[in-house]
Amino acid sequence: MSEYEKRRPVGRVKQVTSLSNPLVKDIKALAQKKFRDQNNAFMAEGLKLVIDALDLGWEIRTLIFAKTGRGNTAIETIAARTVAAGGDILEVSEKILASITRRDNPQMVVGVFTQRLVPLKDIFPANGDVWVALDRVRDPGNLGTIIRTIDAVGAKGVILVGDTTDPFSLETVRATMGSIFAVPIAKTSVEAFLGWRKSFSGLVAGTHLKGAVDYRSVDFSGKPVLLMMGNEQQGLPGNLTQSCDRLLRIPQAGRADSLNLAVATGVMLFEIRRHALALEEAA
Ligand code: SAM
Repeated sequence: MSEYEKRRPVGRVKQVTSLSNPLVKDIKALAQKKFRDQNNAFMAEGLKLVIDALDLGWEIRTLIFAKTGRGNTAIETIAARTVAAGGDILEVSEKILASITRRDNPQMVVGVFTQRLVPLKDIFPANGDVWVALDRVRDPGNLGTIIRTIDAVGAKGVILVGDTTDPFSLETVRATMGSIFAVPIAKTSVEAFLGWRKSFSGLVAGTHLKGAVDYRSVDFSGKPVLLMMGNEQQGLPGNLTQSCDRLLRIPQAGRADSLNLAVATGVMLFEIRRHALALEEAA
């Protein structure tokens, strides 16, 4: 059991006023990947995100709220849900919340949750399912935006291939705007990914600046689709490029030599899911 685990005050509300309190120090340390990995935990800020996470069955370990939130019905409701789920409650000053989240104007609520990843071997895409494979994504903002877009278009999930930025960093979680709790995430090595890809029977659509096929000319319907996107600096490497069924390109005009990764992923996902997306009927 880690020091963090030992110090958690199970099922109790604690008022904390000092930045040097060990519980606060342990939560602050979750800003570092090493500590997140050691504890298999991460932080999510804001009432909406914490409610979404609880609604979707994520395990909450600690709820931290600003003492100015005392008496707020929504906060009291999630505090009760946290205790019912076996989590702890910390009531802290705004200064402590700002320090934990590294923000001048912090949200009133922060949740500490258990990380959750899907094993690659458990992913069996069915007809119509869309998954996104990201090769060595580096930028937390890009990853968070892509996870949010996957959620928005109704795609199934994301596979992070190779050495990637951490999906559970504060920056990535912020950029997902809550979609981190709705979109399954798998992490894998290139070798394991290439092995899994062999049993993938649908269309593996790679995107490449040298792709010969216009992305608008492909029929994506009625089959599983795996959209493969390249690293921000280098694009897809040879082995991943060779594993694609088609190499697609988004035509461009002007001086920019490529699109931002998250923008290119968004353009592709809306095209792939075009047949499945419609505005709701007006009442
Ligand atoms: N210098 C990199 C290269 O040569 O590939 C640029 C990579 S780009 C910033 C990141 C990824 O976004 C690419 O690997 C590709 O997956 C996708 N992408 C960006 N613009 C694209 C376009 N016009 N057509 C197809 N894919 C594109």
